Order: sequence, then C-alpha cells, then structure tokens
Amino acid sequence: MMAQYLALREEAGDCLLFYRMGDFFELFFDDAKKAAAILDIALTTRGEHNGAPIPMCGVPVHSAESYLARLIKGGCRVAIAEQTETPAEAKERARKEGRASKALVARDIVRFVTAGTLTEEALLEPRRANVLAAACAMRGLVGIAACDISTGQMELEECAPDRLGATLARLGASELVVPDGWELAPENAIARSGHEFSSEGGEERLKLIHGVATLDGFGSFTRPMLAAAGGLIAYLDHVGRGSLPLLLPPQARAGEATLAMDEATRASLEILESAQGGRRGSLIDAIDRCVTGAGARQLAEDLSAPLTDRTAIAERLELVEWLHDDALLREDLRAALRALPDVGRALGRIVAGRGSPRDLGQLRDGLSGARVVADRLARRDDLPVLFETLLPGLSGHGALVDHFERALVPAPPTERGQGGYIAEGYDSALDELRVMSGNARRAIAALETKYREETGVAALKIKHNNVLGYFIEVPSRHADKLMEPDSGFSHRQTMAGAMRFNALALHEEASRITEAGAHALAAEEAHFESLVAEAVAARREIARTAAALARIDVAAGQAERAAEGGWTRPHVVEGLSLDIEGGRHPVVEAALMAQSERFVANDCRLGTHDRLWLIGGPNMGGKSTFLRQNALIVLLAQAGGFVPAKAARIGMVDRLFSRVGASDNLARGRSTFMVEMVETAAILAQATESSFVILDEVGRGTSTYDGLALAWAVAEAVHESNRCRCLFATHYHELARLAETCEALSLHHVRAREWKGDLVLLHELAEGPADRSYGLAVARLAGVPPKVISRAKSVLEKLEKGRAETGGLAAGLGDLPLFAAAEDAREEQCDTLRDKLREMDVDALAPRDALEILYDLKREA
Ligand code: ADP
Repeated sequence: MMAQYLALREEAGDCLLFYRMGDFFELFFDDAKKAAAILDIALTTRGEHNGAPIPMCGVPVHSAESYLARLIKGGCRVAIAEQTETPAEAKERARKEGRASKALVARDIVRFVTAGTLTEEALLEPRRANVLAAACAMRGLVGIAACDISTGQMELEECAPDRLGATLARLGASELVVPDGWELAPENAIARSGHEFSSEGGEERLKLIHGVATLDGFGSFTRPMLAAAGGLIAYLDHVGRGSLPLLLPPQARAGEATLAMDEATRASLEILESAQGGRRGSLIDAIDRCVTGAGARQLAEDLSAPLTDRTAIAERLELVEWLHDDALLREDLRAALRALPDVGRALGRIVAGRGSPRDLGQLRDGLSGARVVADRLARRDDLPVLFETLLPGLSGHGALVDHFERALVPAPPTERGQGGYIAEGYDSALDELRVMSGNARRAIAALETKYREETGVAALKIKHNNVLGYFIEVPSRHADKLMEPDSGFSHRQTMAGAMRFNALALHEEASRITEAGAHALAAEEAHFESLVAEAVAARREIARTAAALARIDVAAGQAERAAEGGWTRPHVVEGLSLDIEGGRHPVVEAALMAQSERFVANDCRLGTHDRLWLIGGPNMGGKSTFLRQNALIVLLAQAGGFVPAKAARIGMVDRLFSRVGASDNLARGRSTFMVEMVETAAILAQATESSFVILDEVGRGTSTYDGLALAWAVAEAVHESNRCRCLFATHYHELARLAETCEALSLHHVRAREWKGDLVLLHELAEGPADRSYGLAVARLAGVPPKVISRAKSVLEKLEKGRAETGGLAAGLGDLPLFAAAEDAREEQCDTLRDKLREMDVDALAPRDALEILYDLKREA
C-alpha cells in the first residue's frame, strides 16, 4: 500500500492527496499536517515509515465537499485518489494473477480539485463568477485566456505587457496558469510546461472541441490569444484527468473595448470588495438588486469591465430605462426570474460529467421559465433593441423541455444511486418493473399476516436490513414453533431476545424486489445518460438562454435600484466633458440612510477649459467621497446602468485612475509612500486626454516639503502633459497658487463652519480656495483633550506668525516655470547636444579637440 500511496503522491505534485480508504479520504505525512491545521481536525498516526510513525488525518467521504471547500479557501489544491475497483474485484484479480488472496484495491487520481476548476454547487459562491485564467507572452504581447468552467464562458484577449496587471485585476481569476520560468508571472501563478502554450496546439484543440474547421466564425484570434488558450485547455485536461468541462466558443475581447482600470484603482474604488475585504461596503453590494445568481455574476462582470462603445452602452441603458419606466412589467419579470434555478451552472456540472438528476430538473425548470419570460415580452411591440437580440435566445427549447418534463419527476434527487427520478408513464418497461417490486412488497406485507396466523405469534414481524435483506423476527420465547424441522422456516440469526428466520415464499418475493430494483435502476441510468447527452448536445443554445436571462436580470435589477434611489439615465457622449449634477455616492449614502442622515448632493463640471479641480477643505469634509462618487458614476454609466445623480453627461472615459495618499493605504511589504509613488508614476505614464483621474491627498505620505513639492509637480504634470480630467484633493493650501499659472485648473473646497466653537461640516462643495484647514476643530471633534488642543493652538499661532514673515512654505514658487515649460527647456538643451554630437566626426577628432569639447559640455551642464 505504501508503494501505491507514494506513487500517487508523486503524481499529485504540489496538491494534497486525498487517498480513498473505504468511507474515508485519508491524508498522510505533510499533507496530513497541513490539512489538519487548516481543517482543525485531529492529527493521528498510522503505521511506520522508515522507522518513524506516519502522521495521518481523514475526512468522511459523504461530507468531503465541505472539507474540500475549506482547503480550497485555505489556498490548497487537492488530488482525489479513488478506489477504482471493489475489494471483491481486487481479490478476483489477485487470484487470476496467481497471487496470495491479500489483494490491494487499485486506486487512481480521478480528478484535481482546484480553486479555478470547481463545478460543485456547494463549493461555488452563487453570486460570483469563478475564473480560471492562463497567460503567456508571444511576439512582445501577452495573450490571456480566461474561462468560468461553472458556466463554460471563455474569453481570449491580448494586451501589452504593461497592461497585464490591469487585465488580470479585471478578471479577478481564482487561479492563473503561466509557462514555467516566465519573467512576468505574478506571484501565486501556477507554472506549467512551456510547450503547453503553443498557438497551433491551442487552435487545434479549440477547433476539435467545437467541431469546426476554422475559428473565424467565433471571432478573430491572434497567436498570443491562441497560445494562452492552449495553456488553459492543457491545464483543464490535467486537472480533469482528460475529461474536459463545458467550454463555450471563445469570444475575442478587444483590449480597447473596455474602460481600463488597474488593480490599485479597483481596490480604491471598492468595486466588488470593500477595503476591509468581502462584499459588504462595496459598490456592487450597494447596487446589486439581481434576483438570480447568474444576474449577480453578470453584474459583477459589467462593473469589472465597463464599456467604451457608445452604442453598446446606449443599448444597455435603453433596456434599463424601459424596465425602469414600467414598474409592473419589471416586477412581473423579476418574480419570474426569481423562481429560476441556476441554468448555467447546472449545465456546467452536466457537461463536466458531474451532473445529477436534480441538475437535469434545473435545466427543465430554467428553460421552461425562460419561455414564460419570453412570452411576457413577446406581447409587447415597443421592445428595446437589446431585447430584440435577447428574445430568440430565450425560447427554442420546446422539444427539450417537453421531453424532460415527461421524463423526470417534479423534484429529482441529487443522488442517482437510489433511482426514483424518472417519472411514471415515461417508460412502460420501467413502470412494469416498479409495479413488480410494488406487488412483491405488498405480497411481503401479506406474508406477515399469514405467518402470524400460521404460527400464532402475534409479535412476528418481517423486517429488512442491508446485511440479511428481508427476514422474519420473533421474540426468542416464541421461537420454538419456527424452530421445528418441518415448520417451513429456516433459522438465520440469534439476537439478544429475538430470533431471525427465513422462509421460501419470503425469499422468492424478496428476490423479485431485488431483481426488479436492479433492472429498474439500470433502466433509469440509461435514461439519465440519454437525457444528459441531449442536454450536452444543446449546450450552446442553453448557455445562450442562461446568458440572456442573466442580462435581463441585470437590467431589471439596475432599473429597480434606480427607482429605489431616484437615479437617472446618464448620457455618455463624445468629447471631454464631465457634467454631473447633484451626484451622490451610493455606498456612503446608503450608510448615512441607515442612520437616518441625509447625503448632500454635489455637482461636478469638468471640461476642456476647466479640467483639473483642486479641492481643499477640512478633513472629514467630504473630499474623498466627492472624488469617488464621480469616478463611480462614470463607471456605472459606462457599465450601462443608471447613476445616482440628477443629471449626468459624460464624455466617454478611456481609462479611469484612482489613487489615495499613502497614510490611508495600508499595503503590506513595500513602504506605503513607495506604493503611492509607484501608483502615481503609473498614472503619469498612462493617463490620456480622455482619461479621468482622481487623486486623493497625493504626497501626504512623506515630509511636508517633499509632499508639497511632489503634489505640486504631479498636479502640474497632469495639467500640462496628461491633460486628462482630474479631481485632486489636497490639504496643502499652497497648491492654490497653481491656479495663477495653470489655465484649466480651478479651486474648490468642501464647506465647513465653526459655530459656537463647534465645527460644522456641511459636505457641500463650493468654488474658491479653502480659507483654513480646521485641523484643530476636527481634532476637538474627535475627542482630543482640551489641554492638548489649547497647546496646539499656541504652537499654531507661532507657526502662522513665522509663515507671515517668510512668505510661507510656498514662498518663491510663483517664479517657477510651469512643468511643461521646464520640460521644454530641458528638451531644447538635449536637442542642441544631440545636434552637436551628430555633426561631430569622431574619427577625425584630435585628442586635444576632444578634451576641449568635453570641457565645453561640462561648462554648459
Ligand atoms: P475627507 O476626504 O474630506 O476627509 P470623507 O470624504 O472621507 O472626508 O468624508 C468623511 C465623512 O463625511 C464620510 O464618511 C461621510 O459620513 C460624511 N460625508 C462625506 N460626504 C458627504 C456628503 N456629501 N453628504 C453627507 N455626508 C457626507
């Protein structure tokens, strides 16, 4: 056994090995230690290996799923080694091979359970997609393949190496596979052999899977995309031991078709997860009104990848508006959707070969529900364009639904071992078998009465257990009659106080039940297989239906949310304006409402001539909230939903950036200031004229002078070079002086007032620079002791006096040339140098002249 175990262990690689032994999965050695720690279960020992006891722990097979879920959450991957023959078969095999009767049951790894390849309902979060991704580089580009095998969706894309981080952030994959030794590989990526990432291989596999001669019908795919697909499919082969899960035809995603956001931006905007981790407090938590898991997953995808195609955005918005304006229809649709099972995931399990009768029932109910939804919509003659395209996807399963309705019982079980899921009347042979075993059961009941009468033992009972099957039981003191040689009863077992017997008639009826049962089970099995095959054959159409339902759920949910909060339809337009009237922050507003407080709406009006707003004002005044609400409104609008504002006109944004000053950002590892600067550098390098950037207290993470200097230079660079729309919150008053030189920059502040010695934060945005910082008032508000406050007051007075005398921190900054002007001067200098070098004939240069030139250069530098 040890040899068998070690061979499987070797094969399992860096996965934990679940080694099946009867009713348990056992883990040994380091696997046992690791699993026992994560699962918090007892670690014991069993036998010895090389003289040392072997650590061991185990989990029962029937509850293995919940343990698997915890191990996967704990970052493990698990190889499942099942017994591939029964002990009896093993014995038989050993006998044939002429070995001693002590036979070891054959075992094999039947699958790997990894975070990215789950299909089990119990292991998946219903409202969250589970993405497996593969990435590799080719010809200077990165190809990325991503799929959610619980629904089969697959997407291929390619990007420049510097956008890999943003793309992976958007996908939020739970597992990423990369070629071994790839220098761009993120931490935690799973390295696989490089030859699996071949574009020819990937293309061949895709063609084979989808039974097509060319992939052109699905879209146009580049070599890097196909190479990544190759890596992805090879990994799926590996974990599924050759059986592939559901894969729908791949879709090519054009990199420019979505609003680019890097990982830092996503984290800081708390789109799918709050800064504390988890969904609570995130944007999606505040807006998700989907009634199905598939809808919620689609919404998460929409928010992760807002669009940059105005027609597509307008189509989604039209749908939301239509459902927004018709509350009755909306409620009707939502009620219909709410009752639907998760068709996409049921299909995923069925195609992966892990489907149950219940999954087939879910397909039946989901698809017939889709037909109901389609019927409701078909009655209307004012359907939005998007509905026109979704509608055909909703119906067309009539034959399959009818068939499944006839074939399956209303609520099929998750286990098929016991049978009982094929409906009566579907198969007359099966019905007959059932009648036979029913008759035999009745006959057995009749036998009980007959035997009681014959023996005169009123306490006689016919019972059943798994070991003996059917038997007759009487209390020991009445057993004499049955023990008589010609009584017709044969003794089987003596219990404490009771005796068990068999009888010919009983044996015959029992055999009838067993036989009929076995035949019935086989018949049901065969029906199950053919129903599965029918579903698999229709997988593309079923997936299309699931996707259409999800899209409708998203739109209805968005409409519901908009109606609830008085939101408005945004207009996404050409140009570089950002005009938001009465904007609100959905998450902050919800939190305030929970405490019966009111959110103060604020306007944001950025345009070509006023593209950078510098926002000052006291801490806690609402600066960050304002910055983020505008970024979120852009995101929501381009995701095709209504926005929390009175009116919004948004010039399409190509890239969205959000940065928060260091002290708010407790990133581990690197110094927080370093993180802040790395992130700022990325903005300066990547933001275009069409981008929208929010910068919150950039420069705060270092000394006052450094911080001010950096904030100054960054604001100037954004204004002069990037020329993007930008909201810049800062507590450096000195930055206000930028308004003198930057023509498209304006000053704003959040209002506050001191009233009877108390600070009142109005959370209202106003034009002009902040008059003062109210730092001490905020400190008092926060409960800093009065003594400390009054001491701070005197220090402040001294400082302010000093500032008045010297002209303050920013004295003399007014004379600095602007960022661009300074850049230009430097460029000019370089150009002259370049010209000089170009003109120079180095070979004809005498050493003395060369030295002379060097002296000249040194003087100019
Ligand atoms: P700052 O960035 O200026 O320090 P925040 O934006 O973090 O301030 O806001 C601090 C708190 O003020 C928020 O948590 C919220 O409770 C409240 N707040 C912010 N903006 C508003 C608003 N527009 N209306 C009502 N309350 C607000």
